[in-house]
This record gives sequence, C-alpha cells and structure tokens, in this order.
Amino acid sequence: TDLALIRNFSIIAHIDHGKSTLADRLIQFTGGLTEREMSAQVLDNMDIEKERGITIKAQTVRLNYTAKDGLTYQLNLMDTPGHVDFAYEVSRSLAACEGALLVVDAAQGVEAQTLANVYQSIEHDHEIVPVINKIDLPAAEPEQVRKEIEDIIGIDASEAVLASAKSGIGIAEILEAIVTKIPPPKGDRDAPLKAMLVDSWYDPYLGVVILVRVIAGTIRKGLHVKFMQGGTDHLIDRVGFMSPKIEQTKELAAGEIGFITAQIKEVAQAKVGDTITTVKNGATEALAGFKEVQPVVFCGMFPVDAAEFEKLRDSIGKLRLNDASFSFETESSAALGFGFRCGFLGLLHLEIIQERLTREYDMDLITTAPSVVYRIQLNKSRTDPAQELMLHNPADYPDPSRIEQIDEPWIKATIYTPDEYLGSILKLCQDRRGIQLDLTYVGGRAQITYELPLNEVVFDFYDRLKSISRGYASFDYEQIGLREGDLVKMSILVNNEPVDALSMIVHRGVAEARGRHMCERLKDLIPRHLFKIPVQAAIGGKVIARETIAAMRKDVTAKCYGGDISRKKKLLDKQKKGKAKMREYGNVSIPQEAFIAALRMG
Ligand code: GDP
Ligand code: MG
Repeated sequence: TDLALIRNFSIIAHIDHGKSTLADRLIQFTGGLTEREMSAQVLDNMDIEKERGITIKAQTVRLNYTAKDGLTYQLNLMDTPGHVDFAYEVSRSLAACEGALLVVDAAQGVEAQTLANVYQSIEHDHEIVPVINKIDLPAAEPEQVRKEIEDIIGIDASEAVLASAKSGIGIAEILEAIVTKIPPPKGDRDAPLKAMLVDSWYDPYLGVVILVRVIAGTIRKGLHVKFMQGGTDHLIDRVGFMSPKIEQTKELAAGEIGFITAQIKEVAQAKVGDTITTVKNGATEALAGFKEVQPVVFCGMFPVDAAEFEKLRDSIGKLRLNDASFSFETESSAALGFGFRCGFLGLLHLEIIQERLTREYDMDLITTAPSVVYRIQLNKSRTDPAQELMLHNPADYPDPSRIEQIDEPWIKATIYTPDEYLGSILKLCQDRRGIQLDLTYVGGRAQITYELPLNEVVFDFYDRLKSISRGYASFDYEQIGLREGDLVKMSILVNNEPVDALSMIVHRGVAEARGRHMCERLKDLIPRHLFKIPVQAAIGGKVIARETIAAMRKDVTAKCYGGDISRKKKLLDKQKKGKAKMREYGNVSIPQEAFIAALRMG
C-alpha cells in the first residue's frame, strides 16, 4: 500500500470514557464486521476485561475507509491497555503510531489517566485528535470539557469532535479527522528489515502470535528472521492482519502494522519492544526503547488443598504461556506447605491472575501478603562476604545484625479529585508516608502529586482512595527508583507460632500501629478454640502488639436444645465444610478468608 494512504493511531482515554465502545463503532462503520458479527466490545475479549471494563491486552485492527476525497485508506487502530500496570506495553503501542484519538467523557472531563496517557502520546510526537464522547448524556458539558482539554493538557481543542460512541454520533467526523489530521507513516520498504515487536499472545490454533510495526524494509512469509534482544531466530510462516477477523497477506512493508507467526511456543520468547530483522543482510542496530519488564509485586500462592499442588503448577504454567510478564517459582512454607512465589507488574495484574486461576482453572487459593522488592546491603560475616540481595519474600529476610541498609521502591503518584475529598485524600497519602510535591486546582478539581513508597500502595491504597472519594478520584503512577528506608520484618505469631504467610516488611514508624491492627483483626477472624490463643506481632524477638482469643465455652450444638436432630446434623455438616477451608497452625485452625482480610489495613 502507498504510505500516503496509511494511518496508524491509538485511542487513549481514562477508564470508562468510551474507548472500547468507540473502537467497536469505528469497526462497524467501516464494515469490518457485519451487524450480526458485532458482539458488544469486540476488542475486549477476556471475561475479566469485560466485567471490569478495562483493556488488558492490546488488540489491533485494520480498517478500510473511503474518505470524502474519494481515496480508500488503510487505518490501523491500536487499542492500548487501560491500566498503569501495563505502562510499558502502552508505550510500545504508542511508539507504533503517528497519532492518537484522545477520548474524554463529556460528563466527567479530564482525569488522571487521561493526562498520563496524553503526555506519553505527546512524547511520541503524536498528532492528537480530541474527541468529546458521551454528548448524549444529560450531564454532558462538552464546552466545559473542551476548555479543560485546552487548559489542562494545553492542546487546541477548538476542532474537537463531539461524539456519542453509544448512539453513533460523530463517527464519520472522527474518521475524516483521522485521515486529514494524522500524518501517514514514513519508512523505506527496500531498506534492511526493522520491525518492532509491539505485543504477543498465545492463540490455541496459531501458537504465539506477534504484533509488529514495520519500521523499515518488508517482512514476508518464509523469511528467516532474528529477534535482536531475545537472541533467537525463527522462520516466519504466516503474515497477516486483523480486520478484526484474521486475514493472511503476502507481506507487511515499512509503515504497516500486522501480525506474524513463526512456530514459537511461548510468549516469553517474544519480548515486547524487541527488534525483528532478517538473519541475512539484517539491520545492525536495534530500535531504541527496549526494556525488559520486571515484576514489581510478589506474593505466595498456595493451594487450599495440599493435594492440588500439581494442578496449581499446571494451571500457572498454562497462564504463563500467555503472559510473559508474570513470574513464578516453587516456594515452601512451614505453614502453607508447597506453593509458588509469583511476581506481577502491579496489583491489578496480581488480581487478574488470581481470578483466572480461581475461575478458569477452578483453584482454591491462599494468597499471601503482596510484597515489593527490596534491595538489601549485607555486611560481611564470619562466613560470608559483604553482598547485595534483592528480597522478594519476607520469609527470606536475612539476619538483621548483618543488614547495613535497605532500599525500597518509590513511585510518583498523580491523583485527580473533586475538591470535597481533598482533605481525606491528603490524609491518606500522609498516613502512607507520602511526600507532597504539588497541589494545583483546575476547574473545581484538585490535582495532587505525591511521592509514595510502593509498599504503602500495593495492598489497598487504590481501594481506599476510591471509597474515600466515592469513586471520583483517579490515580496514576510511575516508578521513580529505590530509596533507603527504615524497614523491619514484622512477624505474626498465633499461639506462639510464627505464621509465615502473614509476615511482612514494614516501616518502623508504622510497625506498631500496623501490628496492633493486625492482631485486632485476627482476633475477630480466627474462631474460638477450646483453649486460649495469644495473637502477637513481633519485630525480631520483641512483641509489639498482642491480643488474646478467649477459649470457647459452649458446644456449637448447644443452641439446639438437643431436640431437633436434623438441625443439629446440618450444623455439624456446616462446621465440617468450614473446616475444609481452614489451615492448621500447630493446633489452631485459621480460616482461609482470614489471610486476605487480615491484610486489609482498613
Ligand atoms: P473504556 O473503559 O474507555 O473502554 O470504556 P467503554 O467503551 O467500556 O465504555 C464505558 C461505559 O460507558 C460503557 O458502559 C459504555 O456503554 C458507556 N459509553 C461509552 N460511550 C458512550 C456514549 O457515547 N454515551 C453513553 N451514554 N455511554 C457511553
Ligand atoms: Mg475498554
């Protein structure tokens, strides 16, 4: 295809502003799918995505659009992941495009994630086409939103398209704007091949499918290529694009976006951001911007029923085939037996994997407290030299007398909130050891920038923020590196035995409060036994908080007055069932829910 007839663009938006709905409309309008084939939200194809309304995996479709000038254009639409956990994938998708549609909800206005995405888009030199969506809503205030886009983002919004993706208003105008405002790609189709690996996923029929943007040269079936960062080479056996149905084609030339397959078994071999070139006469220099993604949040996952360990291994292995960004290795815990230590890009990513294991693979899991990765400098000991280690698991916390320094990861968070919740949000950030960098007002809303330790954010910061602000505050973050912290390991002892699944690394300044809270929670969560049970939080050998679970006096069936046998039996059955979901610690049973519930800071 003539380069002048190609447009590559992505859609950027805050969650729920209508990105997927608009993408579906564009596909429908250009005839990519017939009415009958159109199921709602073609681009979000995982159940969890549909339920939560977020895009996890980027998908790309090619549309043919005949514009008012009479020419037929090839439009490549990239749907970018909608969550901060997948920021690197977003950055590669953006790097594959020349422009972006900026979708802003006419009733909500500009939000934290709108800003984060649009700044990235500007960094990639995109031409940005603003779209004010949901103008059908009674609460829509398109003129105010137009002004917000200009004031807050600083781009011209005088020609923003007023649209309703839901009712199909403004779709033709959006397509015209894409053709007239977004520049065509550049690139020499006869140069040595350079294709960027934008995304990869596992397809049960095709194997690993790789989405590429050809930067220079031409990629075709039968070509022997190498992945410059991954260091492997492969024979290309399919080249094509999605319309959104899979269609095969002869080749993809500089400027084009499409997919290839090459008999690759695992997505781990196809790293996002890698450069693909030919084995013979290939490019010598890889494309800039490659980054190896590293998991940042870790937790243990254990089967509730120890006999299901192999099943868990199998299920995790299958998920990993399709997601190279999470990691796992076997872990054994004194209390929980055999399980896996898993690493994720963020909390949402953790929840997605946990949910898929539960739902798609029918696993009953105990998940331990999420933890970030700490860097620890150790002094020389009698037997070991001084060394540095990366701690992924509180259970591996070294001998404290050897610790010279601990560094923890920090983030820079941008929070955007209606004025009335500002006070409570500032308090939340302050309680989580935040350092305020900036506070500005834009049209009745506050934009707050904070530096926060990631370990204070991983568990429930986002949930708290949402509940404090009744869902109105939005949150976005980026990592800013490691900083020294006064961190200690807090252990939880139930009946004088440490429960390793509940131990965590905390800042000394908040350890006591956190320990007390944890003990209070556990006191309510652990059922009474026939004996008294002490619940303690300790740092090293020192107890910093303590509660006692009183002994049980009456038999559970006592309430039944001995008369109604069937009722008594039911009660006993219920008790037995409950037992199946308990974990024994010494001689104390802890219900499965207690682990998760105890970790919520409330
Ligand atoms: P995304 O998270 O940006 O992909 O947003 P979705 O496309 O999933 O849309 C979020 C919600 O807004 C869904 O319930 C859509 O039906 C709804 N929605 C999308 N566009 C419009 C619109 O133009 N008008 C109205 N009233 N609702 C819309
Ligand atoms: Mg979506």
